[in-house]
Amino acid sequence: ANVKYDYLIVGSGLFGSVFAYEANKAGKKCLVIDRRSHSGGNVHCQNLEGINVHSYGAHIFHTDSLQIWNYINQFADFNHYINSPLALSEGNLYNLPFNMNTFYQLWGVKTPAEARSIIEAEVNSSNFKNPANLEEQALSLVGESIYKKFIQHYTKKQWGRDASCLPAFIIKRLPLRYTYNNNYFNDRYQGIPIGGYNLVVNKMLQNIELRLSHDFFKDRSFFESLAEKIVFTGKIDEFYQYQYGKLEYRSLKFEHEIHDIHDYQGNAVVNYCDLTAAFTRIIEHKHFEFGSQKSTVITKEYAINESLNNEPYYPINDTKNMKILKRYQCLADKESNVIFGGRLAEYRYYDMHQVIASALKKASDEQWNNFTR
Ligand code: FAD
Ligand code: UDP
Repeated sequence: ANVKYDYLIVGSGLFGSVFAYEANKAGKKCLVIDRRSHSGGNVHCQNLEGINVHSYGAHIFHTDSLQIWNYINQFADFNHYINSPLALSEGNLYNLPFNMNTFYQLWGVKTPAEARSIIEAEVNSSNFKNPANLEEQALSLVGESIYKKFIQHYTKKQWGRDASCLPAFIIKRLPLRYTYNNNYFNDRYQGIPIGGYNLVVNKMLQNIELRLSHDFFKDRSFFESLAEKIVFTGKIDEFYQYQYGKLEYRSLKFEHEIHDIHDYQGNAVVNYCDLTAAFTRIIEHKHFEFGSQKSTVITKEYAINESLNNEPYYPINDTKNMKILKRYQCLADKESNVIFGGRLAEYRYYDMHQVIASALKKASDEQWNNFTR
């Protein structure tokens, strides 16, 4: 009787916001709630010193899909930022991703043939036919020298476990190329929204009712009674009261610092690949938008275990957790009026463009053109 909405959307991150925008466009009435005090989920930015500071870590938009690129460009213009992180290892700086600049800095080799012969010799000596984990995958892609210098310790800090205990796909995110090209991504389209990510999310949600600082689980039956259907973008294991056990996530701690200088490190992202630095990377936010402010804001990013007091960020898609996930997905498949989506509800290491694609797919599955309430 008091069903007031077609959709209750739990979470105002990119998944929830895209879904809400599409549903609203189709004439559906939506309520979006979020337990944080702001919308946007992990793409949220805060303005410090006139700089858009990525509150939850560096966010660079990239996609190979023209459809997704056109979609996101409805909500903002994008600048021409290209991500080219540096890596600090044993006191020296190197270019990422692994490319001819890195190989020249490492070995003094100038031609692709010279670089190939070093890497191929190392790869052949490791001899993994079917790499079963991140370590084996890295050794069979880039060889032992690069693995030890850039991957082994960074990965241990980032994930809190050895690379041999992590899924192989994680390292395939990084390109390896034999050209002098420091672009971290191979995708055709890349950039940062001019004016920041909040602009994008605010535009998606502009005609939609939004309640911030509301946790679905604090008043579950009330929220469930409000709408015909629920779109859930929080943790799938929490939705089912952890009945099959907890899925593990990696959390992060961000230390933002304002420095009264024009430029701190000359680049947006510097990775710290050794165990001597406790953080994994330092982000200098003004460089995402080519800022010329007088001061600068940097963020040291530390990876930590997830607990009740801190946010889940990265799903740990190892065998043990994937087994538990399967059991939750069986329950989810039986739901007729709950849609699960996004990094936490699908428990997938999604980038923004993949979250948008997933939200558009689930929105189109609703077949709004074919039914009315
Ligand atoms: P989220 O953004 O996590 O949103 C979920 C929302 O649901 C949150 O706001 C949360 O508060 C809310 N919520 C959860 N539970 C409840 C509840 N019970 N009640 C109410 N609200 C709830 N992607 C890229 O494409 N490029 C990058 O460079 C990039 N860098 C990244 C760097 C870091 C450090 C991290 C962590 C991620 C990065 N990503 C990047 C990935 C990107 O952040 C995600 O793909 C995307 O933001 C996920 O959107 P989402 O809606 O699934 O989840
Ligand atoms: N990685 C690494 N050294 C680096 C950069 C990345 O070992 O300098 C590994 C690490 O395991 C990391 C993964 O590659 O988790 C994916 O890196 P990416 O930069 O895509 O991580 P994200 O930005 O998603 O945290």
